[in-house]
Amino acid sequence: MPATETSSNNSYDLIVVGSGPAGQKAAICAAKLRKKVAVIERKRTIGGVCVNTGTIPSKVFREAILYLSGLRQRAFYGRSYAVKDIILMQDLVFRADMVMAREIEVIKAQLRRNRVTVFEGNARFLDMHTMEVANEDGYTSLRGDNFVIACGTRPAHDAQIPIDGKRIFDSDQVHELQELPRELIVVGAGIIGLEYASMFAALGVKVTLLDQRPTLLDFVDREVIESLCFQLRQLGTVFRLGERVVSVGFDADRDRVFAKLESGKTVQGGALLYAVGRQANSDQLNLEAIGLAPDGRGKLIVNENYQTAIPHIYAAGDVIGFPALASTSMEQGRLASSHIFGTVANIPPNLIPYGIYTIPEISMVGATEEQLTRDKIPYETGIARYAELAKAQMLGDDQGFLKLIFDPSTLKILGVHVIGERAVEIVHIGQAVLALGGTIEYFRDTVFNYPTLAEAFKVAALDGLNKL
Ligand SMILES: Cc1cc2nc3c(=O)[nH]c(=O)nc-3n(C[C@H](O)[C@H](O)[C@H](O)COP(=O)(O)OP(=O)(O)OC[C@H]3O[C@@H](n4cnc5c(N)ncnc54)[C@H](O)[C@@H]3O)c2cc1C
Repeated sequence: MPATETSSNNSYDLIVVGSGPAGQKAAICAAKLRKKVAVIERKRTIGGVCVNTGTIPSKVFREAILYLSGLRQRAFYGRSYAVKDIILMQDLVFRADMVMAREIEVIKAQLRRNRVTVFEGNARFLDMHTMEVANEDGYTSLRGDNFVIACGTRPAHDAQIPIDGKRIFDSDQVHELQELPRELIVVGAGIIGLEYASMFAALGVKVTLLDQRPTLLDFVDREVIESLCFQLRQLGTVFRLGERVVSVGFDADRDRVFAKLESGKTVQGGALLYAVGRQANSDQLNLEAIGLAPDGRGKLIVNENYQTAIPHIYAAGDVIGFPALASTSMEQGRLASSHIFGTVANIPPNLIPYGIYTIPEISMVGATEEQLTRDKIPYETGIARYAELAKAQMLGDDQGFLKLIFDPSTLKILGVHVIGERAVEIVHIGQAVLALGGTIEYFRDTVFNYPTLAEAFKVAALDGLNKL
């Protein structure tokens, strides 16, 4: 199956593999620098996991669930209030499809406007500068001076877990479920597992969350996690942490799925979501042809400029591992291209925000109390409880809180942690002050719109200053 000859028409300054957030931004950044750019995407739909199976559909599901379940309105209209009595999978999928279709159009238009050529097919390296694109029409070979590998990841599977996409499914298959289960077992309490667990729980599904790790999301503030667990338990979620799943199966006689645990317990349910990690797609790129070796889960190692061991081949996004977010992938793609074409930039690691779209949502930037304690750095905290904020009352959230962590001698902000309505939005106020080296006094002395959730920063600052 020989590839066609490369012509000067098929030669590019930059070839990008993958059209997810990392690939898109790498391509557009290079195109804006007037470089000739090609993106190779094997799916018919552009946008990567982000648009097609991950970020966007899951976040639309969340919005649809919050709306249709009336969860936040129950504080006012009673515990049984719902906008729609029987919520079907189709109600969620319908909304997600609309948003995804629009997003795909936006991405296509951006690539077209910036004159990025998109090739549809499977990309694989033939040699250090040649890539083959295979699709049903045949093979095309492209020559590139530089490459950005932004091929992303897929859900990691285990041969012992009989995933059928119906009763036992992974996070890429949630969108395809025909009906909502009454009880759901979630294996894996990472971000994806927790987000879906909380969404299903908000729909009234009885969720059991299993993870072999004894604690949830170690990088998140412990008080925030305690609050998350408390609120998820109120939605009926059962946690089985520190429990290793040894087998999963489907009992056809009883029409139930089950997970057997190492401790001897068996958990049963209507369906099971297997959300244990992700496997990089680098295994499909014929990296042997260029002598690039990924790690056990297919991740590629890069330096601070997103350059692999081969100087003209870069990698960005989920294929390089943590933090594996759409937000950071976009920046990594842009920075990789900037470096290739001579402009150097960096993402300061302490300023990366994390948004966790559980119900309730969580967001953070900067240090946690646990990190500072470990590093023997003195700190003080100031807390604003949503129960004290007029806006939070209006939104029906009296459980949330915002915590500011600051240096008691310089008053500089060290970290911002929020759980509750719009946490992922308001954290950016703290991020800006943190990035500019600001102090907690900024929040004390600033007039905030009233009523807002942003006002939490002022309440927390006053609380913190009162402790000194
Ligand atoms: C359920 C879920 C929820 C998430 N929620 C969030 C969130 O709320 N916020 C957030 O920031 N992040 C979230 N993420 C993470 C986010 O989706 C990823 O970090 C992001 O999509 C990674 O972008 P990427 O460009 O590296 O790769 P991807 O988006 O995975 O795109 C890679 C693309 O490369 C293509 N490709 C791979 N190999 C080849 C090949 N050989 N030839 C041609 N094309 C190829 C693939 O088809 C794919 O389209 C979520 C992920 C999941 C799974």
